[in-house]
Amino acid sequence: LSGQVVAGDIDGLSAKSFPLCMKQLHESLRENHHLTHGGRMQYGLFLKGIGLSLEEALRFWREEFTKGPNIDADKFDKQYAYNIRHNYGKEGKRTNYTPYSCMKIIMSNPPGPRDYHGCPFRHTDPDLLRQRLLSNGLSSEGAKEITELAKGSHYQLACVRYYELVHNVSDAGFSINHPNEYFEESQRVQG
Ligand code: SF4
Repeated sequence: LSGQVVAGDIDGLSAKSFPLCMKQLHESLRENHHLTHGGRMQYGLFLKGIGLSLEEALRFWREEFTKGPNIDADKFDKQYAYNIRHNYGKEGKRTNYTPYSCMKIIMSNPPGPRDYHGCPFRHTDPDLLRQRLLSNGLSSEGAKEITELAKGSHYQLACVRYYELVHNVSDAGFSINHPNEYFEESQRVQG
């Protein structure tokens, strides 16, 4: 998949193949034309992992951020483009940063009230989580089952169960340790 995804593909891929953590980031970015730093890091590196090139990443973030009232292209280039290039190893220490694993997302940097990053199975209040699952098309039975797993601290099992229900399979046949694994499995089975 590497290097084949363009900015215009992302809405479709999000609906079809993103784990809930990334779908939540994508949808709030589209809605608010903004994400706080934690969200830009978690989501930006995930997008890099699915094959979005640096040029397409700059296009994607610039288009969305400049839809809001406070950021024009000039401000975007001054305040945000550096970090995106940095994530692709083009600035600073030139480290080629890798997308965050589930463990990192679950264990570090919990989201505050204005943030949308983190793992929804870990960081979202159970009632709100259940609502989100219902609005993502799950049955009330499915939403309840997943919320119970999350309440019992079985975050990654909750994520596997979510995968099974949205892909309509009884056994995913894999465990989820990385959001990019979720994406790749989903793409593999859906073509
Ligand atoms: Fe994302 Fe991992 Fe949480 Fe699933 S378990 S929502 S892939 S962080």
